[in-house]
Amino acid sequence: MLSHLNPPQREAVKYLDGPLLVLAGAGSGKTRVITQKIVYLIEECGYAPQHITAITFTNKAAREMQERVARLLQGKPARGLTVCTFHALGVQILRQEAGRLGYKPQFSILDSADAMQIVNEILKTTDKQEIRRAQWRISAWKNALVSPTAALDIAATDIDATYAKIYLRYQDTLKAYQAMDFDDLIRLPAELFASDAEVLEKWRKKLRYLLMDEYQDTNACQYQIVKLLTGVSGAFTAVGDDDQAIYGWRGADVKNLHQLHEDYPRLKVIQLTQNYRSTIRILRAANSVIANNTRLYDKQLWSEHGHGDPLHVMAARDEEEEAQNVVMRLLAHKFEHRTRYGDYAILYRGNHQARVFEQFLRNEKVPYVMSGGQSFFEKAEIKDIIAYMRLLANSDDDPAFIRAVTTPRRGVGAATLEKLGEYAGQRHVSLFEAAFEAGFQSQLPARQLEPLIEFCNFINALEFRVRKTPAAEIMADLLKAIAYETYLFDSEETRSAQNKWNNVQEFVGWLGKKGEEDGKDVIALTQTIALITLLENRDDAEIDAVRMSTIHAAKGLEFGHVFLVGAEEDILPHREAVENGTLEEERRLMYVAITRAERSLTISFCKKRKRAGEFQLCEPSRFISEISQEDVRKTGQDADPAEQRQQGNARLAQLKAMLAGK
Ligand code: ATP
Ligand code: MG
Repeated sequence: MLSHLNPPQREAVKYLDGPLLVLAGAGSGKTRVITQKIVYLIEECGYAPQHITAITFTNKAAREMQERVARLLQGKPARGLTVCTFHALGVQILRQEAGRLGYKPQFSILDSADAMQIVNEILKTTDKQEIRRAQWRISAWKNALVSPTAALDIAATDIDATYAKIYLRYQDTLKAYQAMDFDDLIRLPAELFASDAEVLEKWRKKLRYLLMDEYQDTNACQYQIVKLLTGVSGAFTAVGDDDQAIYGWRGADVKNLHQLHEDYPRLKVIQLTQNYRSTIRILRAANSVIANNTRLYDKQLWSEHGHGDPLHVMAARDEEEEAQNVVMRLLAHKFEHRTRYGDYAILYRGNHQARVFEQFLRNEKVPYVMSGGQSFFEKAEIKDIIAYMRLLANSDDDPAFIRAVTTPRRGVGAATLEKLGEYAGQRHVSLFEAAFEAGFQSQLPARQLEPLIEFCNFINALEFRVRKTPAAEIMADLLKAIAYETYLFDSEETRSAQNKWNNVQEFVGWLGKKGEEDGKDVIALTQTIALITLLENRDDAEIDAVRMSTIHAAKGLEFGHVFLVGAEEDILPHREAVENGTLEEERRLMYVAITRAERSLTISFCKKRKRAGEFQLCEPSRFISEISQEDVRKTGQDADPAEQRQQGNARLAQLKAMLAGK
């Protein structure tokens, strides 16, 4: 079984004498170590699967790992094995322990748009920057395990105190809604474990061995959970690469990597140096870029894969030409090498860069899937339906209540809702509960009250079925009852309505499939969906399509051929990062992007780009010049733009003719 590993990997898998850190560069097989170790623990060491938990950075990575483990176990059941993200582990813990925190197990999980709305209401401002700043402060406190009252206590300035008060009200609102935000999913278990020895003991008993991938991007809360859960035993394996720490902006702290040495003096460190992913040239580029950072651990990687093709650095006149170049080159490459669409990835710094590429891919009928962008679950029509699910699961979820009661409009007007909100606020009850109270009902004329009560009764009747009936069935009934299809076609033009209705049906289909697979009801599925929206899209792994992804969302993944686009100053590195002095994190982002590529890497940049309607000149990213020039082939740098565009078009026509004749 261990024959697919090199000696240090094998050592890492077999090491069980204490805490273990595998510290190694990209593509060196860290994730493979985790997967193999899960199997090793079950097969060779007699661990019961339910006593093993493995933490991955994304849901997608979790699913892949689970599948790989299943394959390695050759059909042997691994019931109870937990492979999930930190957030999903948080939900698992909180569902069981919610009561101790004053929550019910069906608590709602708010997405960032809902959270923003709450801050908005507290601040009574529409200034998005202002709201984001407050959200950012709250999140930073949460990630550092600072409670609202503690934040108020330590506030040194008036501004700090103001933010702390916002934090306090924000948290009170969440509690009233029986809702948690994403940060709470980590913070609350961490606090619970720190304060309740009994709960901690229970989870320690359950969790006998912990494995963690992408350890460099854990934050203080996550580290706290690890420390408390693994305690004295130190029964864990963490794998990571400090050069790939790219979530500093979200509170992750590489210091946790160094902290391990202090907190666990017995910590064993194993390094891996052979890269199995990329050609020598790609690796050399990655190594030489990252060498410009001040680093604590110098990790040189080597590869047996041969030199491979030179890296291609492409200049384009503007974004349109960049997209055209990339799509054309991709098609030509695919034709020449008889590869699949799925072998290609287009990576970029920010989501807004994707649009023009999508347009060209669509023009050329190239199938693609996006991750890290607006997720399927964030589409308005899907959020409408999810609002109903949330309300069915948790009637205290006021944001869900408001969305549901007004979509479609059913005669419950703004004035009614305002009165309801006022009353509920005074009585400290949810909107749903308030609607049934005599004190509220007596304030409204029957004509106004009726539609509201009808709605609440309707929800109640459905709620009654939640635990016995599959989610897909309930939701299909619900859609019929609220005539959602008619609503869409009444309020939108036909094509867009049809599109949305298709999405809704697809969603219900997905609920059916998920429900069958995992036996989950509305409540469990609602929480699952919230986690999916956290970082990524649905998984479309089966489709043969070009992957479009932000660099952040591509972490841990690998692709045969990578196009890194928009490699310009102000984008990568991002302007704010340069101003804020976080250039090194940008360089790590570049390192992550480069090391996703197995066989070929194309880096492209524009000479000018439209910003706020005007063209601005762009400089190629400084990171490009950090790559050893002998590994690089350049095109488009000096050519006459008009001539180049003409050549491009001619090549495209030629290529299309070739593809047509294939
Ligand atoms: P990253 O830092 O990007 O997350 P990683 O260190 O986790 O990378 P893996 O994804 O585990 O690396 O491995 C990279 C590739 O090398 C995978 O395709 C994996 O299957 C392959 N690989 C890992 N170890 C070996 C090995 N001993 N022999 C052959 N292939 C290997
Ligand atoms: Mg990995």
